Amino acid sequence: MQPFQEAIVHKLREMYHTDMKSATTKQLYNAVSQAAMDTCRDTWAQPVQGKTACYLSAEFLLGRLIHSNLMNLGLLKETEDLLNSAGINPNVFEDVEDDALGNGGLGRLAACFLDSAATQGIPLMGYGIRYRYGLFKQRFAYGYQEEDADDWLAWGDPWSVRREDQKVRVNFGDQSVWAVPYDMPIIGYGGKVVNTLRLWQAEAIQPFNFRLFNDQKYQEAVQQKNDAEAISAVLYPNDDTDAGKRLRLKQQYFFSSASLQSIFADYTAKCGTDYSKFAEQYAIQLNDTHPTVSIPELLRLLMTQGHMGFEPAFQVVQKTFAYTNHTIMAEALEKWNLSLFQSVLPEVYPYVVMIQNRLSNELVKKNITETGKYNIIQDGMIHMARMAIYSTHSTNGVAKIHTEIIKHSALPEWYALYPERFNNKTNGVTQRRWLALCNRELADFITERIGSGWVTDFSQMSRLKPYAEDQSSRQRFLEIKQEKKNQLADYMYRKDRFGLNTSNIFDIQVKRLHEYKRQLLNAFSILDMYFGIKDGRIQGFHPTTFIFGAKAAPGYYRAKGIIKFINEVANLVNYDNAVNRRMQVIFASNYNVSYAEKLIPAADISEQISTAGTEASGTSNMKFMMNGAVTLGTYDGANIEIVQNAGEENNYIFGARVEDLDKIKDTYDPVKLYEKEPRIRRVVDTLIDGTLTDGGSGWFAELYDSLLKGASWHKPDNYYLLLDFLPYCDARLQANHDYADRQAFAKKCLLNIAAAGPFTSDRTIRQYADEIWHI
Ligand SMILES: *Cc1c(COP(=O)(O)O)cnc(C)c1O
Repeated sequence: MQPFQEAIVHKLREMYHTDMKSATTKQLYNAVSQAAMDTCRDTWAQPVQGKTACYLSAEFLLGRLIHSNLMNLGLLKETEDLLNSAGINPNVFEDVEDDALGNGGLGRLAACFLDSAATQGIPLMGYGIRYRYGLFKQRFAYGYQEEDADDWLAWGDPWSVRREDQKVRVNFGDQSVWAVPYDMPIIGYGGKVVNTLRLWQAEAIQPFNFRLFNDQKYQEAVQQKNDAEAISAVLYPNDDTDAGKRLRLKQQYFFSSASLQSIFADYTAKCGTDYSKFAEQYAIQLNDTHPTVSIPELLRLLMTQGHMGFEPAFQVVQKTFAYTNHTIMAEALEKWNLSLFQSVLPEVYPYVVMIQNRLSNELVKKNITETGKYNIIQDGMIHMARMAIYSTHSTNGVAKIHTEIIKHSALPEWYALYPERFNNKTNGVTQRRWLALCNRELADFITERIGSGWVTDFSQMSRLKPYAEDQSSRQRFLEIKQEKKNQLADYMYRKDRFGLNTSNIFDIQVKRLHEYKRQLLNAFSILDMYFGIKDGRIQGFHPTTFIFGAKAAPGYYRAKGIIKFINEVANLVNYDNAVNRRMQVIFASNYNVSYAEKLIPAADISEQISTAGTEASGTSNMKFMMNGAVTLGTYDGANIEIVQNAGEENNYIFGARVEDLDKIKDTYDPVKLYEKEPRIRRVVDTLIDGTLTDGGSGWFAELYDSLLKGASWHKPDNYYLLLDFLPYCDARLQANHDYADRQAFAKKCLLNIAAAGPFTSDRTIRQYADEIWHI
């Protein structure tokens, strides 16, 4: 036995008094993880030399850690051999719940960045919240989404170490709590560098004592404990109510303050009490505006504990912080009610006022009298994005088009003031999880042809390009795609009893459910194909399995209506014997990182159909690309850079572009399109004509109205589904038609893989380090 295998056996005995043959999956999981942790403890303890970057994020969507950590440590094969030799399926750990401390793209980006930084030896530390419950688990009941709490800790948390000695106190207007750090090792590929993700857990200051004799004291202690733990209980509490809003603001300050106190103490230990050089030691990146309250918090620490004056302290703050913008949707730009902010954070508010005053002076100097769109404090609200732009030295967008939109249409007034602060960092994903680990067959295919250097240097992928011309490589690629479809079909059968037809095209749209991502457009187009096949209008259709995966926010009823609608479309199509040998519609439940790792390698077609100008970047588009799917998408986000690099002729781009929408936005009339085009009318009418039913919820009629009548808060069809409908259907049928020439289609797929080099998060994080953090 290898030493690591011995260590696992030893752990099982030590921790559970059991052996390989009798251990439960949970015991195995914890023993293997602990044994792996032991192998990197020394490396982890190494102090960082020089400047450290800190990534503050409300979300880290890590997924399952065991496989990626074992791979990065070079221990995956040994572990699988040990499992095999004990007669255990090496897939056992697929039962382990994901770490889902995030919602979607923004949280997954944070996780990819951690992997990429550690792999490249960039000292990047993550800071966030250790939510007791992560993103809810999704079930369908009669086609409706149901939510269950995500009790991820039921599996244990072997990858974290509680650091009681490093806890800090966080004060609010009406309570104080401990922030207790749980540190996770972030193991770079090769195991030479281990960074840290520090997640804070909220706990009561008073130790809880069950022997409290007096009933009232006992009640108070219970109350205090509950109030404290509520702060890190759930990801994004419902903020429809004032109490919910209060809790969210508390969460933001909780992890911001705890992280800044911790970083501040580290600086003091390392460099003493001259804080003027703080920015030479630490760069802090704000992942969206959720941690923006860190800005006044650092100012507070520098001025109170560091005894600095406002101006020098502000200079330090500005040199330290940088801000990443993730959305330009007006409703998502965070604002806090002034009186709420004052009551929750009375110790921080004065620093916000100081920043506002400095801004006011600067605007006067620049002869700007229209200050309404600049003011951080305006009309009884605190504008977090404005504070972030004003108080940092860098504001970046996450794809070229997104950065241009920020500069020229979302925040042009700020760009005019500080053009040098704005820059682009196109997102990326880690090829280790999203290719090497989730598609080992394709990874071997690549390594056999260009060597294994791509695992840590993704620019080498371009060397694969000649193989797109090679018939036997194309053939092999097609075999691998088939194998991944078979594996997905087995998995989905086990999970949901779906019977996928694996000789079909797999056409997949997986991402959060949102109107702007236009899953409803996808469903309409499926209905159009369904009717077209039945009517004989569509001939020679290559059988296709359409797969969806998406969670809707629990309070987002329109998104839930779309889920119900897609499930009804699935029922209609799948039970219609006239078409169900040519079409299948499947809604995978509980889409998450681990599910993505199964779905994406099996895809032929990657659906990326957001309204132009709405998807800041997207990252699933990159995951699909590197697994050899073609993109069927709009000219939006990183789709643009993807097709520029892989060739438009190897992808399917359709629909209105940003400049087209700008021209028509005031005159757009979806009702005209609806009246003029029978195919549009037919699919839209399925919402109300009884073809499909919403079980009396009224949700379908509401969707119908959202397209043709609008609502108090938006114009009809404000995501232009009907405008893009026919071009989308055409592009989709074109892809379906092209697929018939298997060799030519395989060539397109291979050219996409060969062009995926720039879309690694290794490149992205290197750019942050070079251009923003100067590390
Ligand atoms: C990559 C990923 C996302 C982001 O997908 P987009 O299509 O870019 O929005 C969301 N959720 C999960 C689980 C992911 O892995």
